Amino acid sequence: MGSAPPPTLPALRTNPKFIFFTDFDGTITQQDSNDFMTDNLGFGPVLRRAGNQDVLTGRRHFRDAFRDMLDSINTPFDECIDILRKNIDLDAGFKAFFEWARDNNVPIVVLSGGMEPVIRALLAHMLGQEEADSLQIVSNNVVPHEGKTINEAGGWQIVYHDDSGFGHDKSLEIRPYAGLPAEERPTLFYAGDGVSDLSAAKETDLLFAKAGRDLVTYCEKENVSFTTFNDFSDIHATVRDIVAGKLTTAEAATGRK
Ligand SMILES: [Mg+2]
Repeated sequence: MGSAPPPTLPALRTNPKFIFFTDFDGTITQQDSNDFMTDNLGFGPVLRRAGNQDVLTGRRHFRDAFRDMLDSINTPFDECIDILRKNIDLDAGFKAFFEWARDNNVPIVVLSGGMEPVIRALLAHMLGQEEADSLQIVSNNVVPHEGKTINEAGGWQIVYHDDSGFGHDKSLEIRPYAGLPAEERPTLFYAGDGVSDLSAAKETDLLFAKAGRDLVTYCEKENVSFTTFNDFSDIHATVRDIVAGKLTTAEAATGRK
């Protein structure tokens, strides 16, 4: 006790009693930034949906279908960011939740199957640069194609965080926290909307699944307890009550509302 946390557990730096893990696209944002780019700058919604179907039926790994989507986008990376800033909206309650979490020592860790430079740029646009820099983001990255820079046509590509079929296995980041001895282990929250959030959600104490999205159905099918949210103001109210000791994570996991 009192010793510095191992470097693999950066969210323990401030000795928090609670940690909030969250997906980005479709959870912190109202639209999916990768889908938006694919539909408007890449090969479009028909091929995107066909690719998603291949993943759902097990014909292809997510990482390969996702790479195809992104490779169909020829727009320079800086132009992509500009377009996303104009078209992607932040969840209505996220800024207030972010500020509350910062003031109450509840670290927020973003776990995303998207790309870190996109996420940082959108968060900086929505919250401010300093605020965006303060968040830990675990995601994939962007590198230039050989002989090019990312800010020229056909110049960028995704580089995956790990070798998993999702390109980024979100449970890997949470498991070391979940496995801490009981007296050191913070209470873990997770918020998400899609199938890639399921493995991560199983490691945490309370899952917030976005109402009306795939994750709700997957949780019911796999018997993972959860509660739904419409926007971050719902999450904010519940987390605040749990932190204040008025509600337990088990009481909050009421399933579909
Ligand atoms: Mg999502």
